[in-house]
Amino acid sequence: MEQTKNIIELKHITKTYEDGYTAVSDFNLEVKQGEFITFLGPSGCGKTTTLRMIAGFDIPTEGEILLNGAPITSLPPNKRPINTVFQRYALFPHMNIYENIAFGLRQKKTPEKVIAKKVKKVLELVDLEGFENRKVDTLSGGQQQRVAIARAVVNEPQILLLDEPLGALDLKMRKEMQLELKEMHRELGITFIYVTHDQEEALTMSDKIVVMSEGKMQQIGTPEDIYNEPINAFVADFIGDSNIFNGIMTGKLKVRFCGGEFPCVDDIEEGTHITAVVRPEDVNLTAPDSGRIRGTVTSVIFKGMHYEITVESGKNEIVAQSVHAAKVGDRVGVQVEPDNIHVMIAEDHTNIF
Ligand code: ATP
Repeated sequence: MEQTKNIIELKHITKTYEDGYTAVSDFNLEVKQGEFITFLGPSGCGKTTTLRMIAGFDIPTEGEILLNGAPITSLPPNKRPINTVFQRYALFPHMNIYENIAFGLRQKKTPEKVIAKKVKKVLELVDLEGFENRKVDTLSGGQQQRVAIARAVVNEPQILLLDEPLGALDLKMRKEMQLELKEMHRELGITFIYVTHDQEEALTMSDKIVVMSEGKMQQIGTPEDIYNEPINAFVADFIGDSNIFNGIMTGKLKVRFCGGEFPCVDDIEEGTHITAVVRPEDVNLTAPDSGRIRGTVTSVIFKGMHYEITVESGKNEIVAQSVHAAKVGDRVGVQVEPDNIHVMIAEDHTNIF
């Protein structure tokens, strides 16, 4: 699919609420036509506020929103070719499934024949053929959410916004629906903007992830970029499990942390205070003498596919994933390949731009 045209652009968007609280601050974003993009961040970081401004439920205090290059910053929601699916399904309980999905089309005075065709098509899309006459309360949570999605896509929006749409479902149903949503995105070919605080969900589903904290974009990239090359300690900590250490550059491509010196690939000036991030799966445990640092195993947890092993070295704790078991009290060495050490200049993570 051609993915070059920007469907939506947010330019220097700030939202300050009436009480003076700034929920989103100088936020810039370009979303390509057909992309699946996810806003990811902890509770209160401004994900929903950003989505509501794209939908038109909230108006930015500053900045501009463009749709296909044209400004829509203050356009009411019903004038935008954008629909939203919320966490709570918000279906009409007194109507059957067909009527729920047909509701918006009826309001637009769409001919009954066209409605019937469209409802049939979206029911196929969400795998609920034959459910037309069922009442809402006879459906499971997952099925109700599929109806909500069907209702949101039946009038063919250009963009579908999804605000924690799987948040009310149990884990098994959530995982199933993640894959179904991805499939629907492929079939529909429209742009999805998705909000979640669940990093695994974001990594599974998205073409691109926007990591947010305290109303600011921290990083944007593919799931692989965000996971493998976190731009700061906040992102590293939020995505996946990480060991995060303070350290210092001790020479060209040499970094010291946890009491050991490691070769690295990030070229940062000698003497610079840094933050080093190492994923547990990249920590190799060796014989005590062949590691860059030495330590003692303080905990071993069996995780099914691997063991999670904690090693204490001086005042530091290093968590490793290993397919080999170890015993509490074992003396071990710790080794990390240079390109598995992500070194960044130390700074306050909320203040990177
Ligand atoms: P969650 O994952 O918990 O839904 P979020 O990242 O979606 O969080 P928002 O709902 O965008 O966060 O809220 C961002 C901040 O703005 C929060 O601190 C929230 O309390 C505040 N906020 C949201 N709506 C208003 C409002 N109408 N008036 C004042 N503050 C608000």
